[in-house]
Formats: sequence, structure tokens, C-alpha cells
Amino acid sequence: MTQTYADFHRRSLTERDAFWAEQARRIDWQTPPQQICDVSRPPFARWFVGGTTNLCHNAVDRHAATRPDDRALIWVSTEVGQEKVYSFAELQAEVEAMAAMFVAQGVGQGDRVLIYMPMIPEAAFAMLACARIGAIHSVVFGGFASVSLASRIEDASPKLIVSADAGSRAGKVLPYKPLLDEAITLSTHKPARVLMVDRSLAPFERVPGRDLDYAELRREHDGARVPCTWLESNSISYTLYTSGTTGKPKGVQRDVGGHAVALATSMDWIFGGKPGETYFSTSDIGWVVGHSYIVYGPLIAGMATLMYEGTPVNPDAAVLWSLVEKYRVTVMFSAPTAVRVLKKHDAALLKRHDLSSLRALFLAGEPLDEPTASWIADALGVPIIDNYWQTETGWPLLTVAHHIPGVEAVPTRLGSPGVPMYGYGVKLLDENTGQELSEPNQKGVLVIEHPLPPGALQTVWGDDARFVNTYWQSVPGLEVYSTFDWGLRDAEGYTFILGRTDDVINVAGHRLGTREIEECVSGHAAVAEVAVVGVADQLKGQVALAFVVPREAPATPEAAQALQAQIMKRVDEQLGAVARPSRVVFVSLLPKTRSGKLLRRALQAVAEGRDPGDLTTLDDPGALAQVRQRLQG
Ligand code: ATP
Ligand code: MG
Repeated sequence: MTQTYADFHRRSLTERDAFWAEQARRIDWQTPPQQICDVSRPPFARWFVGGTTNLCHNAVDRHAATRPDDRALIWVSTEVGQEKVYSFAELQAEVEAMAAMFVAQGVGQGDRVLIYMPMIPEAAFAMLACARIGAIHSVVFGGFASVSLASRIEDASPKLIVSADAGSRAGKVLPYKPLLDEAITLSTHKPARVLMVDRSLAPFERVPGRDLDYAELRREHDGARVPCTWLESNSISYTLYTSGTTGKPKGVQRDVGGHAVALATSMDWIFGGKPGETYFSTSDIGWVVGHSYIVYGPLIAGMATLMYEGTPVNPDAAVLWSLVEKYRVTVMFSAPTAVRVLKKHDAALLKRHDLSSLRALFLAGEPLDEPTASWIADALGVPIIDNYWQTETGWPLLTVAHHIPGVEAVPTRLGSPGVPMYGYGVKLLDENTGQELSEPNQKGVLVIEHPLPPGALQTVWGDDARFVNTYWQSVPGLEVYSTFDWGLRDAEGYTFILGRTDDVINVAGHRLGTREIEECVSGHAAVAEVAVVGVADQLKGQVALAFVVPREAPATPEAAQALQAQIMKRVDEQLGAVARPSRVVFVSLLPKTRSGKLLRRALQAVAEGRDPGDLTTLDDPGALAQVRQRLQG
């Protein structure tokens, strides 16, 4: 007997505790939970109260005990030309050795360890070693420079920092140590110890008495046994910063038990991953996708995880597919931004490889436009599954779950990530009245009802007030979590994300999502990429401004004029004159965060002559400088 997904979803909310009590059995508990969900102090929620467990035990030890020789971690670096495979037993030995180093340095339960690392196995060992002893990790993306790093050191006040001499991107060595030293100088908090993995990529200075050598300590602690510390489910496992797309990054804090249960459930029902198979996420451990679906999720599910240091186009644009073939990857996770890079290359490159092991490609992080989705679907011949979530939620909030036994699979629909996942009470509200939208295809603000499901953030690290004020008070009088996204739901219940609530443009009383205009502009054959922002206008309140990266730069001012006119006409015809950009500015590159998200707020601020605000997550400052210059020209 099969039930509809809608019924199944409803039950996850109406019979919340029974639903999640069943899911809790997916992981090992040392003491079972006494209470499934404590909602006595909204908007906070505590999951699996009284239960004790350990993430490292669930990700590593329990598999090492039963399947010691199965692959656990596969590391491939096309940057340094190395590959290495660790079985579960080997992974456990590495993690225990690293945990022993931490303990020897006085790191214990509740202490913070900041991890500033490239994509190397030691980064995963360090995360798991923290989980093992109950230390709280704070991973900072290795591409961040000293100012961003310093503010995160300040916020986390770590006892220990784990780092490396250098990372490498597209063959270029990026020394980390000078950035780290500078960041520590800038921060008022000073870590007692810095544990350095020396890859012999870049020579560096050691600070005597503070800096430790990983290789030396690894020898010293070889064969060390460090038992897992059993932690109450609501202990803190880690903190991680959001991308900073809309402002100063927020330090998301996550628990232990809810986190493990949520990931285990998603690995099975959403990703359909099986023990012994290989999962490949092209993200970085510095982002939430890397936490959930490079390190913890696949390992908890007993899968091998492929950790990749390199770009999707080096040595050639087929490298990802060669890895799928070589390691028989069954489930893959990437971002639209990576697919757009590949799209510039020949789809035939994919056909060179045997991709028969692959069952699905999951994409998340930004709206997946239809041309990109269709291109990759045709090229790969497997389902492309869009999934919408946030650093805060830790796992998908809107997608299609195709692997729930006895539940009808919701078909994918181009342009929509899908439907609300079990456990998430998702609503669309009228922005002005706070009323739930009753009719299909009305645009509204996306919110989640209290309590957030297991795996979602507990609070903002060190700042409960910011958690409450930022997330729970956008609609006065309603206890709902705002996702800061704006969407609509069609008659069959599919949700479409239209952009950020900040990105909504109000032209003479008409409310337009930037994404709608962007989709329309990007449909023009000469457009490679586009960002649309609303800028203040005396007459209309706001007008749309389009920043366009053309496939080929217009050769003359007349050609630019002509292209601008064509783009405007297209918007006129498809969306109406209110949506027509007042101006099309041609640039060669758009400002993006390090995680590849468009920094619309910076574009808007520059266009309005305001201070662009926190730019610590900006990838290439040149992009914004060019925008400034073109706006004046
Ligand atoms: P900040 O919160 O600091 O402004 P951020 O919201 O970009 O930064 P993340 O947590 O990395 O930080 O990103 C989550 C956001 O990314 C979502 O709220 C949504 O706007 C966007 N997003 C993620 N996945 C999708 C998707 N599949 N479709 C559309 N948008 C998506
Ligand atoms: Mg956000």
C-alpha cells in the first residue's frame, strides 16, 4: 500500500514525536532519548533530550567494527596529483590519533577548535576528532583572507587552530600560514596552539611554543586509542558561518543527536545512498554542504565519501566524470554554478566516461535555471534533483524525496526544487498581512513553523538574541522562522524560489522577484550571466537595473546599445514594461561570494551610491570595482 507524499508529510508534522522517534533508531545511542522534542521554550527546540550519542561513533566506529576494510574516505587531488583511499578502520586510526593530539593539548568537551584547511584528508580527520571528544569545530573556508578569518577566530575563541602550509587552486599555490598569522595578530583572542599540516607546498615561519608539527605528533600518537565521549543530544557539535550574501555572516550552531538523525534520514530517503556505495559532493568542507554531505552524512550512512581538491575543469572539463567512473560514484552533489562552468565546454566530454554507476545528480545553493538543468540532464542521462536549503537548516528543506518506502515519489519539475520535506512546516505568507496565501501562484515570503526539525540550527553561536531577532521576528506576532526567501507555490504544491526577500523590487507598487527578470534576460542568446537589482527611483520608488555578462563583449557602443534594446524588449514582451530594466550594464564579471552566490546587495548599494557593507566574503574585489566604473561610464 502506498501513501501520497502529501499525507506522509502531514503525518511528519501532526505525529511529530512518533515520526522522529522512529528515525532516531537509524543511529546508535548510548542512552536512548527520554523526550523526542522539547518545545517548552519557543522559538528554541531541543531534540532527543536526554539521549547520549556521538557523531564520530556513528560516522566511523560503528562501521569500522562491522566492515573495517570497506572504503570510507577517498581523497583525490588534481592540484598535487595524489589520490588516497582510507578504509573505515584506517579512518578510525587517523581520527583517534588526531583526537589524541587534541587531548594532549588540553582540548576537551565544549572547547572550540578552528579548522582553516584546504581539501585534504586531515581536515576531515580534524572535524571527526572534534566530534569524537566533544570539542566544537568551526571550519573556516580555506579561501578566506585574514580579515574574514580574524573575525571568525574572534567569534569562536578557539583553544586550538588546525591549519596547513597552503592550499592550491587551478595549479596556483595559496599560502595559508601568512594569512593565519596575520589573522591571529588582528584578533584579540589568541589560540594557545596551532597545529600545522605541512604539505611542502609553501615554506612558512613557525611560532615557537605555539605552532605544532602534525607529522611529528602523528608519529608520536600512532596507535593511540581515544574513546568516543558520549554527549547529550543537545550538546554543540559545531558552528559554521552563513555565506554572507545578505549581510554579516551568522554563526550557525548545531547539535549532536538531531544532526545525526536528520542526516541519516536524508541520506536514505532523499539521496538514496546505500552502505558500501560512493558519494561525491563537489563542495568544500568550508560550507554546510561539505559538513553535511562530504563528511557526516555519507559516513553516517556507511558510504565512502569522495573528497576532491581541484576544479571541475582541470586537467580538463571531464575530470569530475572520470572520478565518477573510476570510483563508481552512485550519488553526486554539486551546485548550479559548477554546472554553468561545465556548460561552456562540450557535452561530449561526458560521453567519454562510463557513468552507468550514477543514479542522480543533486544541485543546490542557488536557483537552478531551466537551461542549465536541461543541459546537464541531457548530458548525463540521470535525474537532476534541485534541492533548496540553508546553512541554518543543515539539510534539504524543499526537494523531492524519491526513496521513502511505501510513499509515492513526487516527480521533479523544472524550475522548482520541489515540495516541503518531512519535518518542515513550510508556509508562504503575504508579506504585508502575514496571512497564509490561500491561492496557488501567489508570491509570498517563505517561512517555517516552530519547531524547526532535527538537524536545523539551535541558535546563533553566542547570541540567542540575534537568533530570535533575526529569524523569528520578521512577521510580528507570528512564531515563524523566516528563510529570507520569496517564492510561490503552484496548483500541484511545487514551490518556486523567486529570490531573496531583500531582492524583491517594488516598481510603482508592483512587486517583482529579481529571479523572474533574470530568467527572462538570461534566455537571450547573447547573455552568459545576469544579475538584476532594484535601485531607488524618485518617480517609481524602485526600478530594475540589469548587470549582464555577455557571451562576447559588444564590439562598439552601438552594438552595446542594440543589445540593451533587445534585452529590454524581451523583458517587455515576457514580463511587462514594469519589469523592464531602466538600464543594462555590461560587465565581464559579477560580484560573488566565495561560495559562488551573487552579491546583489553589493551591486544595489554601489548603484545607489551607498556603502556596500560587509564584503569579507566577496570573491574578487575587481568585480565590484568594474561595476563602479561601468556605472559611471
Ligand atoms: P547569508 O545568510 O549570510 O546572507 P546565504 O543565505 O547565501 O548567506 P547559505 O546558507 O549558504 O547562505 O545559502 C542559503 C540560501 O541559498 C537560501 O536561503 C537561498 O536563498 C539560496 N538557495 C539555496 N539553495 C537553493 C536552491 N536550490 N534554489 C534557490 N535558492 C537556493
Ligand atoms: Mg541566508
